[in-house]
Amino acid sequence: MSVSTVSTKQRGFLAVPGTDIQLPYTDIRGTGSGPTLLITGGVHGGEYPGIESAIRFATSLDPSRLNGRVKVIHMTNPPAFYAKRQYVSPLDEKNLNRVFPGNMTGTPTERVAAVIIEALREADFWVDLHGGDIHEALVPFTIFSDRGPQEVVHQAEAMARAYGISHILRSSSIAGGSYATAAEMGIPAILTESGQVGQLEETAVTIHLNGLEQLLRHLGMVPQSPVPPVGAPLLTQFIWVSAPSTGLYYSALKPGQHVRQGETGGVVKDVFGDIISHVPVPQDGVVLFTVTSLAINTGEPLFAVAAP
Ligand SMILES: [Zn+2]
Repeated sequence: MSVSTVSTKQRGFLAVPGTDIQLPYTDIRGTGSGPTLLITGGVHGGEYPGIESAIRFATSLDPSRLNGRVKVIHMTNPPAFYAKRQYVSPLDEKNLNRVFPGNMTGTPTERVAAVIIEALREADFWVDLHGGDIHEALVPFTIFSDRGPQEVVHQAEAMARAYGISHILRSSSIAGGSYATAAEMGIPAILTESGQVGQLEETAVTIHLNGLEQLLRHLGMVPQSPVPPVGAPLLTQFIWVSAPSTGLYYSALKPGQHVRQGETGGVVKDVFGDIISHVPVPQDGVVLFTVTSLAINTGEPLFAVAAP
C-alpha cells in the first residue's frame, strides 16, 4: 500500500550491479492510498510495442488522478534491444524470461532479472508487456500462472480479464518466467502479448495502452469504472511445437487460426527444396503464434496451439 500527500513523477535508471546496464524507469506516486503496480517492457528486446507502450503510459499517466503507485521499467533488456536480438541477450545468450528470479552475482541477464525482482518486491501487482518477437507473428493474448496460492491465481485471472484481450491462458508456466516467478512470490502477475514481427504497430500499442488503463481501473487506482471484463473461456492447454530439423521452414498457419490435431502445421525443407520434416498440429485449438523466419534450427519454436 502506498500513501502520500503530494503526487510525483520521477525518472531515473536502475543500475545493474557489475555491468554497464541501466534500466530506465518512471516512478509515479498518486495522492491517494492504493496498491503499487509494476509495469515492465522489453524483456525481449525486439518486442517493440511493449516498450513503446511502457514509455507512453509512463509519460501520459497523470499522477494527480492516481491512487497508489505505478513503477514503469520501460526497457528491461537494453543489450538485446540495441543488438536487435530475438529471445536472448548478446552478452550471455540467455533469455531474460527464463532466468527469473535471477542472481545478483550471475551473468548479466541473471543480474537484470534480480534487479527487476527487487523492484517487484515493492509491488502488489505486475504486468509484463510482450509481443511477438522479431520473427514471430501472433494474435494478442494474455497469460497468467496456475502456481502460487489460489487467491493469487484468482487475482491474476481477474487482471487478465480486465486487460481486455480476448485470448486468455492459464499456464502451468515455463520455468524462470516472469509471471510464474511472481505467482510463487505471492504477487498476482500477467504477461500480455500484443504486436509482432519486429514492427512498431500502432494498433498493437493501443491494445497495451487500453489494457493498462483498464487494469488501473480494475485495481481501483483511478476513479473511473472499468469496462466489463472479458468473459471468454480460459485456455489451459498450451502446446509449443519445436523444429524437428534444421533447414528452411514453410509455415501453413496464421495466428488466430483454428486448427485440428494432425493437420499440417508446416514443413522443413533442405536447401535443394526437398521436404525433410512434416510438422503436424498437436491438438485441436487456436494458433497463438508462429515463427516467420525461413531459417530454422532443430529445437527452435515453430508455433503454439492453445485449447480450453
Ligand atoms: Zn516476449
